[in-house]
Amino acid sequence: MFIAHLPAGYLLAKTIRCRAPGRKAAMTATLLGAIAPDLDLFYFYTLDACRHHHHSYWTHYPSGWLALMLLAWGVSRIKRWSTGGTWLLIFSMSGFLHLLLDCMVGDIPLLAPCSMRFYALATVQAQYHPWWLNFLLHWSFLLELLIIAATIRIMVSGRRKPDSPSGAPSSTSGHGE
Ligand SMILES: [Zn+2]
Repeated sequence: MFIAHLPAGYLLAKTIRCRAPGRKAAMTATLLGAIAPDLDLFYFYTLDACRHHHHSYWTHYPSGWLALMLLAWGVSRIKRWSTGGTWLLIFSMSGFLHLLLDCMVGDIPLLAPCSMRFYALATVQAQYHPWWLNFLLHWSFLLELLIIAATIRIMVSGRRKPDSPSGAPSSTSGHGE
């Protein structure tokens, strides 16, 4: 995925907000998680000097984000730490969603660290210059535009219909939590 990670995180935050202990904190955790795996680009362009694909770093291992999710879920079950655990759970869910979206065309080592074989739903052929034009002209970019359009629509409709003054969720979770 190229430009829709942050909007996808926003949509995730809107989907799970009813269960979060603080709406703004949940949104922050989700947005941070949505871009967290790609923070490895700083390492890629500096210390690694572009020698390895940044998807080969541990920051793009699904097993790492799954482990973090399990840890966060366990912490969120402990009453004293439940709020921090829930935010960490939301953060890790968003990071995992980032990898799922990267899987579209981005080559992700799904079984790392056991296997460093890369998987992708579709391959973007190198036909155009500069390189990013190949992604913009690929069909998968339509999904990115769809995610961005859905995000804008929700943001605009949210401004028209402000939430309750108390900040309380306007609907229930449906599971009694
Ligand atoms: Zn990524």
